[in-house]
Amino acid sequence: MRNYDYQSQREVLANLCQQLKGISNAADEVKAARKRVDLLGQADVFRWFIPQRFGGFEWSTNEILRGYLELSAACLSTAFVLTQRAAAVSRILASGNDVLKERLLPRLVTGEWFVTVGISHLTTSHRHLQKPVLLASKSPTGYVLNGFSPWVTGISFADQIVVGASCDSISADEAGVDSANDEGRYRNEILFGLPTDLPGIVRPATPRLVALSDSCTGPIHFEDVLVDQQFILDGPRERIMSQGSGGGTGGLQTSVLALGLSTAAISYLRQESLNRAGIMEPLESLQHQLTSTRDKLFDLADGKQQWSNADVRAEANSLVLRSTQAALMVAKGAGFCEQHPVGRWCQQALFFLVWSCPEPVTASNLCELAQIEWIKNQ
Ligand SMILES: Cc1cc2nc3c(=O)[nH]c(=O)nc-3n(C[C@H](O)[C@H](O)[C@H](O)COP(=O)(O)OP(=O)(O)OC[C@H]3O[C@@H](n4cnc5c(N)ncnc54)[C@H](O)[C@@H]3O)c2cc1C
Repeated sequence: MRNYDYQSQREVLANLCQQLKGISNAADEVKAARKRVDLLGQADVFRWFIPQRFGGFEWSTNEILRGYLELSAACLSTAFVLTQRAAAVSRILASGNDVLKERLLPRLVTGEWFVTVGISHLTTSHRHLQKPVLLASKSPTGYVLNGFSPWVTGISFADQIVVGASCDSISADEAGVDSANDEGRYRNEILFGLPTDLPGIVRPATPRLVALSDSCTGPIHFEDVLVDQQFILDGPRERIMSQGSGGGTGGLQTSVLALGLSTAAISYLRQESLNRAGIMEPLESLQHQLTSTRDKLFDLADGKQQWSNADVRAEANSLVLRSTQAALMVAKGAGFCEQHPVGRWCQQALFFLVWSCPEPVTASNLCELAQIEWIKNQ
């Protein structure tokens, strides 16, 4: 047995969850977010994701999901920020660029550096536009980046970013006429691991969100940013996000966070049920659904393939919306006050309708909302 497996870290994790619950956003959201990230580092959470040869604990998917479940029940924002950091780390680990890996990983394993990821414009964001929103044009020493990545969590305090761009096959010198309709002009994609203080990188103030503003999520802009080829993690090649891990949409970490938030809502219902027998039946039904979806998720993590990721995600999305709203009904007007956690959970549950939602999940949830039958693969 390894020294630092999930079982051995349970007490550390329980203490961490208690500390996270005690941090308030009231004074300064960015400082509060940074403080939560520091606590993750002190509890060695960043080591879960990193192989032992780089100083990590090398947890299995199953162990990581168990960790996420506990963290997200305590503080969804922290768990979410962690998923984005982990996605970036996973792309770095998968890279063939050993020099860059050796430079980044020692500082990522300890938490000295915070790394985040900006890749949704290659998967689920701004995909209906003809021209990619972030372009890499070949230069003599590497690439020139122009455009933006629309959603980057923790961008206010990130030291490094894993960012994807579409390669413009017409070089900066040849360009002039905008021939965006050229067949295959932007076919290849490329991933970089960049310091966030390169000249030409601009990080505007992050927007207020319906929930999770304290994840410090916002765009990052690139204005003629010269990127040396030493920063290439992967590519250029076609459909770069469809291979490897750490950035695929609708992954199990998305579902497990929805289940963590559902756990918080259902625990609240259970607490209230001690004095209110009338809520027992709906509570038991929600608890049963939580257990069933959680079992399916861990089966999937263990390689049992009776269900798809999208099936579990659609169930988790549905449960998180219903369980948080059930908690609000029980909390009544008091729960509608800004400081009450239940109202915040309802807002946070909406996030799962937009976060990394692949087409089958959107289709399934839309049909549920419209109360029509969803036929898979139609
Ligand atoms: C809080 C938060 C944190 C996030 N963090 C990260 C992160 O750290 N890293 C990361 O890579 N991603 C992140 N994302 C991105 C996320 O995973 C999704 O990619 C994102 O929510 C997709 O939304 P979008 O508005 O960008 O989609 P878009 O597809 O760009 O939709 C925007 C608008 O375009 C129009 N539109 C959309 N589709 C069509 C169509 N087919 N035809 C015509 N018009 C259309 C609609 O008017 C729509 O409102 C985050 C998102 C959020 C909300």
